[in-house]
Amino acid sequence: MSHTNPIMNAMNICKLFEDAEAAVRWMMAKKLLKSSQLCGKCGRELHFRTTGINNAEGCKWVCTTHACKSWSCSVRRGSMFAGSKASLKQAVLLLYYWGNNTTVKETAEEVNLTRQMVAKYFKEIRLVLINSIEQTGPMIGGIGTTVEIDETKITKRKHNKEWLVGGICQETKDVFLKQVERRDAETLTSVIQDNVLIGTRLVTDCWCGYNRLAQVGFAHDTVNSLNFLSPNNALIQTQNEENLWRWLKEYLKQKGTNRLRNLNEYLAEYVFRRMHPNAFESIIEAIGRETEDS
Ligand SMILES: [Zn+2]
Repeated sequence: MSHTNPIMNAMNICKLFEDAEAAVRWMMAKKLLKSSQLCGKCGRELHFRTTGINNAEGCKWVCTTHACKSWSCSVRRGSMFAGSKASLKQAVLLLYYWGNNTTVKETAEEVNLTRQMVAKYFKEIRLVLINSIEQTGPMIGGIGTTVEIDETKITKRKHNKEWLVGGICQETKDVFLKQVERRDAETLTSVIQDNVLIGTRLVTDCWCGYNRLAQVGFAHDTVNSLNFLSPNNALIQTQNEENLWRWLKEYLKQKGTNRLRNLNEYLAEYVFRRMHPNAFESIIEAIGRETEDS
């Protein structure tokens, strides 16, 4: 297990939660919890109140309008943690261990939750990051950059084959990955248009599914995959792409037996981790954006 964030590690998280209210305020500052709430009865702003040690969160939201008779709600209301059985401390630790790419088994032991709960939580995190990737721009490349595109066959069951299309930007190393049923020109052109900025120089192999790319606004060069270091053009090479598949396959192997059923989620997770070396901080930011929107 690698610790990518020297400041906020598991020990510091536990220390933070020794003061429940301070921890809640930290979560509000990070937008993991809402920093204002409206009354469910009168619609006015609620007041933040400390409740003492008996309440697990140490605080809640209360309405001071007389007619509402102290209508109150949990600090979790409207957040990812509403309705979760995990304590807020466990919830933040789960984010931390996920951020460090810790396995479900190991995380369950560290946080003292069942593996089922950890697996369910990690799945929720993947759903958040799928949204995040879609919102913050899956587009890679751009004018002046080169994106290598390739596709690979993934066998899900016998006789049930699908394709994985991917691209990697030579300059930024940003990637996109999409699972598709076919690798015909219509499918490949539309996937690439959805993920790569117009004007990018694309490098692909000679597969006929790529033959419409120049028509839709890309500079397109092909390489013969059998001779990928063309002596005539030293800039054309597919080494990035080959590495991408190797990394991805190793990554999926670590993730256990459910991976084929939820492949799109794991692809998103893989892309997210590549784009965000500090996955813990970045998943907090992504959850924060969702809390703000809700
Ligand atoms: Zn009220």
